[in-house]
Amino acid sequence: MPNGPKMSEANVYERIRPLLIKAPVPLEQIARSLGLAVEMSANLEQGISGEIACENGRYKISTASSEHPYRQRFTLAHELGHFALHRSLIGNGLDDNKMYRSDAHIGKYANSEIKLVHERQANAFAAKILMPRELLEAEIAKEKSTLGSSKAPLTKLYRTFQVSPSAMQWRLKNLGLSEQVDMDS
Ligand SMILES: [Zn+2]
Repeated sequence: MPNGPKMSEANVYERIRPLLIKAPVPLEQIARSLGLAVEMSANLEQGISGEIACENGRYKISTASSEHPYRQRFTLAHELGHFALHRSLIGNGLDDNKMYRSDAHIGKYANSEIKLVHERQANAFAAKILMPRELLEAEIAKEKSTLGSSKAPLTKLYRTFQVSPSAMQWRLKNLGLSEQVDMDS
């Protein structure tokens, strides 16, 4: 499937959305269905969490082997955010450091087109596709019902969605769902 100019930037989320039907979302499969190559647990330069490269019109995302698989999923989703939202700025590629910043001083691409605002957009995109609101609300309701409790345990939620505890906490806060979750269990 072509992933060049034919697939507009705004289209990507609309193409992904129908695939977000259960947790954990099949992120690698989604990226491949958009025509990207994916290499998880890649051997990247120290200090780099992930990169997206463009070679002969084909995009490839790699995530660092040194990081936990749940964090690698967030990195993949973040790079997919750059693909969806900032494709015209990627050029030959960009690499994200551990803070998800494209830094001219480390990594091999030295992409200075990607600014902090773009990083925030990529993080928001990642959270939205990894932890879709409707799936998260449904999972919280299910846990509360199963446990007969007013709160769902954080541990169950982040494992179900295969994200880090802190990524889940941020998402819950941003969606106003924190009070329905027990952060200590
Ligand atoms: Zn980034």
